[in-house]
Amino acid sequence: MTKILVYVEINNNKIEKVSKEIISYTKQTFDDCEICALIAGDNTTIEALKQEVLSLGSDKVYVIQNQFLSEFNVCAYCDVIADFITQDKPDVFLIGATFNGRELAPRIASKLEIGLTADCTALSLDENKKLLATRPTYGGKLMATISSKTVPGFATIRPGAFKFKQPESSKTEICYINSELNLENLLTRTNVLKTDIKEVAEDWTGSDIIIAGGIGLKSKENFELIYKLCELTGAKPAASRAAVELGWAPQSIQVGQTGSSVSPKLYVALGISGALQHMTGVTNALKILAVNTDIDAPIMKIADYAIQADAINILNSLISKLSD
Ligand SMILES: Cc1cc2nc3c(=O)[nH]c(=O)nc-3n(C[C@H](O)[C@H](O)[C@H](O)COP(=O)(O)OP(=O)(O)OC[C@H]3O[C@@H](n4cnc5c(N)ncnc54)[C@H](O)[C@@H]3O)c2cc1C
Repeated sequence: MTKILVYVEINNNKIEKVSKEIISYTKQTFDDCEICALIAGDNTTIEALKQEVLSLGSDKVYVIQNQFLSEFNVCAYCDVIADFITQDKPDVFLIGATFNGRELAPRIASKLEIGLTADCTALSLDENKKLLATRPTYGGKLMATISSKTVPGFATIRPGAFKFKQPESSKTEICYINSELNLENLLTRTNVLKTDIKEVAEDWTGSDIIIAGGIGLKSKENFELIYKLCELTGAKPAASRAAVELGWAPQSIQVGQTGSSVSPKLYVALGISGALQHMTGVTNALKILAVNTDIDAPIMKIADYAIQADAINILNSLISKLSD
């Protein structure tokens, strides 16, 4: 049976959401494959997260538990994971394209001398059960599907590209792996001198309603109206890259190819033209509502609801109505 192995990343004592998204997606998409998860960490971390990993719906969870894996050290983690892959021989190996995942994946690929397709948004298998990984290319103008010639087929997955669905029940087998590597020695190659934990905004990419603003809002002051409307409606704010580049909004809320992928029930785009690089981030939105003065703007043809109007007027009217 084709075996798909997903690396479950732990960051700041939490399981990265993208790891859960990959398990959900592979379980739903490849029902004739064995979906396995791999988690590595020290005893305290593993004990704290074990039940949660087991509840994610994979068929099997491999656990590498070792005191020398207490914090993320890219060299040690690379060697431990590469060693496990050499022993376990999965057909496909997947990692989330997080900061740590992007650092880890090329090192593992290089160590195992296998190919790597980075930042993918869709996966399939060919008739020989080889990985076909799809990702945006040419600045988001094309989607390229890349076939793996080496085994395991290896890809990093863009956070938010897939939806996580907590399974109602999960019959997951747990296997403890004793790494025979001398982990203490591996840690001497690089030292983590200091860890600064940044305050990370709560995850907004899976919110039900996202209200995004672009250049059509004309100024930072007008962009503030997006935040105001979000406060009144419980929606989450987002921005186009052009708005971010002008300093109207932080990069953490940018949607698109070089920002986040979102999957709301409703995506409201105000004064956004709908460039491909922006729309790449909203392919999983259930409905798109666009407000634009230009009926010929690309987003007006893609949106489920297109309103030709001044977005600033619309924002002011909605805020005034909802504040009454
Ligand atoms: C490699 C690469 C990666 C990129 N990654 C991203 C990304 O991740 N995310 C992203 O967003 N972009 C990205 N871009 C940039 C992208 O190509 C566009 O330039 C950007 O999305 C445009 O932002 P915008 O829609 O806000 O601005 P514009 O394209 O300038 O559109 C503004 C829109 O507002 C409308 N408008 C004007 N006035 C009003 C008004 N009063 N009311 C309503 N509508 C009005 C206009 O008709 C127009 O359609 C990337 C580009 C490259 C090359």
